Amino acid sequence: MIQVASNCVGCGKCVSTCPFGALSLVNRKAVANASCTMCGACVSVCPVKALSLPTAATAKKDLSAYKGVWAFIEITDDGKTQKVRPVGFELLTKGRELADQLGEELAAVVIGDGVEKYFAELSSYGADKIYAVSSPAYHDYNTAAYANAMISLIKKYNPSIVLYPSTYIGRDLSPRISSELFVGLTADCTGLSIADGLLIQTRPAFGGNIMADIKCPDYRPQMSTVRPNVFKKVVSRPGSMAQVISESIALPAQAGKVRIISKHFDEVSNQEKLDEAEVVLAGGRGMKDAAGFALLDDLAKELGGAVGASRAAIDLGLKPKEKQIGQSGVTVASKLYIACGISGAVQHVVGMEHSDVIIGVNKDANAPIFNVCKYGFVGDARQLLPKVIDAVKKAKQK
Ligand SMILES: Cc1cc2nc3c(=O)[nH]c(=O)nc-3n(C[C@H](O)[C@H](O)[C@H](O)COP(=O)(O)OP(=O)(O)OC[C@H]3O[C@@H](n4cnc5c(N)ncnc54)[C@H](O)[C@@H]3O)c2cc1C
Repeated sequence: MIQVASNCVGCGKCVSTCPFGALSLVNRKAVANASCTMCGACVSVCPVKALSLPTAATAKKDLSAYKGVWAFIEITDDGKTQKVRPVGFELLTKGRELADQLGEELAAVVIGDGVEKYFAELSSYGADKIYAVSSPAYHDYNTAAYANAMISLIKKYNPSIVLYPSTYIGRDLSPRISSELFVGLTADCTGLSIADGLLIQTRPAFGGNIMADIKCPDYRPQMSTVRPNVFKKVVSRPGSMAQVISESIALPAQAGKVRIISKHFDEVSNQEKLDEAEVVLAGGRGMKDAAGFALLDDLAKELGGAVGASRAAIDLGLKPKEKQIGQSGVTVASKLYIACGISGAVQHVVGMEHSDVIIGVNKDANAPIFNVCKYGFVGDARQLLPKVIDAVKKAKQK
C-alpha cells in the first residue's frame, strides 16, 4: 500500500487522481485503503512529496539469479480428447529463438492430468526442460490451482521470461500470477525479441495506430501473452527428449471455491474454427447484408473454409462477435485468406497478415487491403463471388 508521510497537507490532489478510489482524507491527511494497487499515480501529483511507494516495491532487485525462457502450455479438452493447444508450440518456437539469443534454456511448463503423453511432442518443438505438474486434481483448469502451481514453480526456479497464450485461460491465469508476483505483464504481443539482454515486447497501442516496444528492466520474470497464430510453429528437434522435472504441488484452499457442476462442449467443426482453418473467407462492410455473407458461406463450403468478418460487419450484426478477425478479435494464419469488401484498416490487418496467400476484393483500387494482398481484384464482390462459386463447382465436377 502507498505510504503517507507526516508532511501531508491534506490538499486532496491524490484523492482525485487515484484511478482506484483507494485514497481518502481522514483528519486532513491522506489515507490509503485495500484498493491501492501501488500504481504510483498519486506520488507524482503530491505537491509536498508526502507520498511514496514502499521500499520493497521500489528497491532494485538482483536479477542475475533469473535465467531461462518458459512457455506455459495449455491443454484443451473437446469432451473426447485432451491435447496441447497449438499456440503452445508457437510459444515454444519463439521461446527457442529468444533462449538461443540469451544463451539460456527453454522450458515448457505443463499442468494437468496425465501430461506425460505430451512430453515427446513438446521436446520436438525445442524445449530443453519440461516442468510438469500432473495429478487428477489438475484435470480441469482452475484459476486458483493453476496460478498457485505456476507461482510456486516461478518462485522455485526463477525464470527470466514467461510466455502465456492469449486465450481465455491464458488471459485469466497470467494477470493472477503477475499481480501476485508484483511483475508486469504485456498482453497480446505481436512481436518478441531480445535487446541488451531484455525482452522487447511489441504490441499495438493507442487504438492500433502505433506499435509500442515495452520492456521490464527492473522486475522478473518478464511476462507476455501472445495470441494463437501470431508466431509460426516449427519442429526444431525431432526425436529429442527434454529433461523432465516433475513437481507435486498441493491445491491451495481457494481452489475449492470453484466447482465444475457440468460441462457443455459446443460441436464446432474444423471448418468453423477460424484460428485453425487453412482457408478463411472474410467479409467486411462492403458485403452489405446477410445475402452478401451467404455468398461467402457458399464459397467457404465449396473450398472447405471458415468465414470471418471485419469489426464493421460484426457491428452490423452480419456475423457473431467470435468471428471477428483483427486486433480485438481472432488472429488467423491461414494458407489462403480472401478479404471481400474490407478496406484493410490496420486493426484488421494485424489479425490476418500472417496468412500465406492473401486475396483482396474491393471496389476501391486505392483500398489499403491491396497493400497486403498477393492478388487483388478491383470490383464488386457481390457480383464476383457467384461467378467464383460456379467456377469452383465446375472445376470440382471435372
Ligand atoms: C481499438 C480498435 C480495435 C479494432 N479492432 C478491430 C478488429 O479486431 N477487426 C477489425 O476488422 N476492425 C477493428 N477495428 C475497426 C477498424 O479500424 C475498421 O473500422 C474496420 O476494420 C473497418 O471494417 P471494414 O473494412 O469492413 O469497413 P470499411 O472501412 O467501411 O470498408 C468497407 C470497404 O468495402 C469496400 N466495398 C464497398 N462495397 C463493396 C463491394 N460491393 N464490393 C467490394 N468492395 C466493396 C469499400 O471500398 C471499403 O474499402 C478496430 C478499431 C479500433 C479503434
